[in-house]
Amino acid sequence: MADKILVVEDELSLQETLAYNLKKQGYEVEAVGDGLAALDKARQAHPDLIVLDLMLPGMDGFEVCRVLRQEMTTPVLMLTARDDEIDRVVGLEVGADDYMTKPFSMRELMARVKAMLRRVRLVREEINLAASPVTVQPLTFDDLVIDVTRREVRVQDQVQALKPKEFELLHFLALHRGKVLSREFILERVWGWEYIGDSRTVDVHVRWLREKIEPNPAQPKRIITVRGAGYRFEG
Ligand code: CA
Repeated sequence: MADKILVVEDELSLQETLAYNLKKQGYEVEAVGDGLAALDKARQAHPDLIVLDLMLPGMDGFEVCRVLRQEMTTPVLMLTARDDEIDRVVGLEVGADDYMTKPFSMRELMARVKAMLRRVRLVREEINLAASPVTVQPLTFDDLVIDVTRREVRVQDQVQALKPKEFELLHFLALHRGKVLSREFILERVWGWEYIGDSRTVDVHVRWLREKIEPNPAQPKRIITVRGAGYRFEG
């Protein structure tokens, strides 16, 4: 089944160009021109990905993204025209998964869309695997072993007593090795929506995890704090 993409862009010529090119790649495309219509369409059509322009009449892209994030985990590719907004988008404050600055090449956008959809599929597959009785190969990072099948973490062959959420957090970080993940994103994926708003939960669990997996928790080398952005698992 073709992936469904919702395009939210008030500039009609760009909206049409986007829709045309995405359809040509084999995607099913819905397109709307303002924020409220975007929310309606997203709720009704359940797209696999949303291409969301930041500057929209009425409700802007930030607001749309904020509301969407309370209701669904659909990846959002944000389009922005202003350099001064990039910081907020990059910081993933609003929950966008990726962003592009206008003007962008259509080819680049297609590549991003494809990569984002692939990422979603991989995460889904990983979740399915974790839920199935099939043995999954442990993730190994030097002397750190994350054994999903046994739900066990070992450091230098010593089993570490991790709480369930610590295990899930570490596993999640490890699956996204090398990528900066915002606290909000981590909260959403590991804890679910009911915890949104208290991102200190993530900090506390990271601190506990470091005590168990870092050779020197005061100078972490596995779970790195990225100032103003979140955390990155280095392995
Ligand atoms: Ca616009």
